[in-house]
Amino acid sequence: MIVSYFVAPLICPNCGKVSPEDTSTNMQTHIVTDFNINILRVGDKLNIGIEEIEDSYIKIKAPEPNSSIVILETWDCPYDSTENWAKIVIEDWSIKEIVAVELSKPLLEQAHFISDFIVEWIKSRTGTSLFMEGALISNFSEVLRGQLK
Ligand SMILES: [Zn+2]
Repeated sequence: MIVSYFVAPLICPNCGKVSPEDTSTNMQTHIVTDFNINILRVGDKLNIGIEEIEDSYIKIKAPEPNSSIVILETWDCPYDSTENWAKIVIEDWSIKEIVAVELSKPLLEQAHFISDFIVEWIKSRTGTSLFMEGALISNFSEVLRGQLK
């Protein structure tokens, strides 16, 4: 499967250093816009539809028509290897914002899609499984919200 990378200078919530704007943050996505260009930066136009996002992420809620789309994706700090979260905002099918965030209940309220890495992330921190018998639990969003501050 072809992998693209979101890249941006990201401030690590653990060590406070700013990452380089390159693939060292390992912010992989399965969203593919062009078979030649697989680096996605703020300002880039995404030549895709909502189906590609739905295929690549867990849906928290459907975006309103013609409004921005918020994706929560993971990245690794290249300095201390911590696993962190970023908010990616897509507006008119362009990347409007890529910013480091801390996962929280208010942030989850803004989000439409989240990386499936969330399953492992919650499991390793709380022991709660969002996955059962090979599928996401039906009240996924509700349980996730209950695990965040
Ligand atoms: Zn760091």
